[in-house]
Amino acid sequence: MNLDFQMQEISSNAIDVSSYDFIIAGAGAGGLLTALGLSALDKRVLVIEESNHLGGVWYGYEVDEYRVDNGLHMITRVKRGAFAEFMRENLDPPPEFVLHDGWYFRVNDKVGTIPTSIAETLCWPLTGLRGRLGLARIGAKIKTMKLAEMKEYKDFTFQEFMECQDATNQVMLDVMQSAIYMAAGVPITEASAYEALRTLKDTDKEYSKLESAKRLVFGSDEYDEGYVIGGMKGLVDRVKDAINGDYMLNSRVDRISETSDGALALTIDNQEIIHPRVISNIPLWSMSSIVESDNYEANELFNRWDSMQITKGVTLWLGIEKVVIGDRKSRVLVRPEPNRWLISLSSFDPTCAPEGKELIALAMMRDESISLEEQVEQMKGNGMEEYYPEILENIEMEHLQTSYATRAALIPGQTDLDRPGPRTPLRGLYIVGTDTAGSGVGLQQAANSARNVIEALREDNIA
Ligand SMILES: Cc1cc2nc3c(=O)[nH]c(=O)nc-3n(C[C@H](O)[C@H](O)[C@H](O)COP(=O)(O)OP(=O)(O)OC[C@H]3O[C@@H](n4cnc5c(N)ncnc54)[C@H](O)[C@@H]3O)c2cc1C
Repeated sequence: MNLDFQMQEISSNAIDVSSYDFIIAGAGAGGLLTALGLSALDKRVLVIEESNHLGGVWYGYEVDEYRVDNGLHMITRVKRGAFAEFMRENLDPPPEFVLHDGWYFRVNDKVGTIPTSIAETLCWPLTGLRGRLGLARIGAKIKTMKLAEMKEYKDFTFQEFMECQDATNQVMLDVMQSAIYMAAGVPITEASAYEALRTLKDTDKEYSKLESAKRLVFGSDEYDEGYVIGGMKGLVDRVKDAINGDYMLNSRVDRISETSDGALALTIDNQEIIHPRVISNIPLWSMSSIVESDNYEANELFNRWDSMQITKGVTLWLGIEKVVIGDRKSRVLVRPEPNRWLISLSSFDPTCAPEGKELIALAMMRDESISLEEQVEQMKGNGMEEYYPEILENIEMEHLQTSYATRAALIPGQTDLDRPGPRTPLRGLYIVGTDTAGSGVGLQQAANSARNVIEALREDNIA
């Protein structure tokens, strides 16, 4: 579908509320994708955003002559995942994703990929024979597990799951830890086993027993992570241009309340916008202080999610005077610790760096027990001097970012089976975003949550 609406910025005194079918509070990925999906259904929306840009934590910008994203946004499942599918359905031509060339885990002097078959597992360079046999056994168990069985481990941590399977080889756990850490944002001692197993098995698609066995023996190409040409900046701009409606920036929704005739009132800078249909992309952790209602169930719902555990990421962008890495591998430094993920973004999309130069991102989760300066020192030290000296010797641009990466860390109690959306007890108020509902992580989750809310609106006969 080719939607070419070019959503426009509007000021609060120019709003004609009756010209919109929906008000969307919050312009994060969940809010924007919902707006995009509704535009395809011929609906017009007003998007109200607190900050000075669209996209929430999903955006990009220029630093010196480099184009960086907010965070190392390597999009998962670009061949058949929910986000890529959403883009293909709503943007014409669809965005062009460039696949990465696999995961390369470094454990001191040894480097190994994720084994995708029994044969590969049995030659895995990162452990000795006992470790490989243990990995083959647990790998087979995970790959042939059905979703229903995974659900039984919803309230277990991944570490507890591994312990009850007697799979405790330390190198194997360290590698799984670094893979799960990058996706779930928490260590395996905290990550929900159900969510971690789904990530490892890639359960967006359920396979038959025979297919699972074939994949186990012969391997598969399931790790289809990729980068989008044009970066996150290009992607958000394209989504914006395909939305039918208007948006307001620097406009915080301070309050959502009910009017006497059953509509919803949004207070922004002491001005009220009244509309019967509101979709909130505001993080659930702040909804209890925004929603003002006598509705007991609504208060209970928003109070319950007040203290949702989030994850925080740190990304260090390095502009390098010459091309040092020059390939599309996803490198993870497992040991020496801490786990770091290193990618050459300009190898995917040369337009993000000046010609002949390279843009590299180093990413990890924020460790709140140390200062940001100490963490940056760790990121650039601890093995980087030994394994990547040329990067450190040729830095001409350095740019640090930190922000929440996921609104709901995938821990027991916060899995997609626990989360509350898309409906709320308040008539006309729906919720969308990565903490509300929807499987997967990051943009997959945002796309799934947008799909959920649109489906609910259709079921409720209002879209
Ligand atoms: C460092 C980093 C790396 C990442 N890497 C990846 C990756 O590789 N792959 C991937 O798929 N995903 C990745 N993600 C995750 C992905 O970007 C996010 O999960 C997703 O964008 C969050 O979408 P959301 O709908 O939950 O919105 P959010 O981004 O949380 O947006 C909420 C919006 O609501 C606005 N808002 C809040 N309160 C109010 C209010 N009161 N009034 C008005 N507006 C309000 C906020 O300003 C924001 O714009 C990464 C994120 C980060 C930060």
